[in-house]
Amino acid sequence: MGIIPDLLVANAIPQDERIWVPQAPNVWFRPLCLNITHGYWVNLLRVRKSGILSRHRHPCPVHALVLKGRWYYLEHDWVAEEGSYAFEPPGETHTLYVPDDVEEMITLFNTNGAMIYVDPDGNAVGYDDVFTKIEMCRKHYEAVGLGANYIDQFVR
Ligand code: FE
Repeated sequence: MGIIPDLLVANAIPQDERIWVPQAPNVWFRPLCLNITHGYWVNLLRVRKSGILSRHRHPCPVHALVLKGRWYYLEHDWVAEEGSYAFEPPGETHTLYVPDDVEEMITLFNTNGAMIYVDPDGNAVGYDDVFTKIEMCRKHYEAVGLGANYIDQFVR
């Protein structure tokens, strides 16, 4: 009694292209679990074509598992290769970079709390949290014909 429903996502890497939610040019995410009671989300991030993703700060921990391709942070000397796990501690500010020779990168991210987007001086310029992610999904799924409510199955 009182336990929220469990969740199984078949085809976590989807066949249906509409399930990927556009986030920026050549960047998409695929929601897996959007947790509004604990304020975290689990998603796949997909990047095609190399490049820099916005610099951001994490107030809460992040866990990552690289499923395909390779990436690193401009601020660190390690490279997250396919099969790697990475932990990003609270307080960390960094800029994700996908190298030129990577055609497609897919990484599972569990992001807690928020992503705070920052300018080169570290000043906050925007944010994402589980609620902005849900809103992005609702708009996208409505637009592609899956219906805004399509996202509800991933919300806990
Ligand atoms: Fe990060």
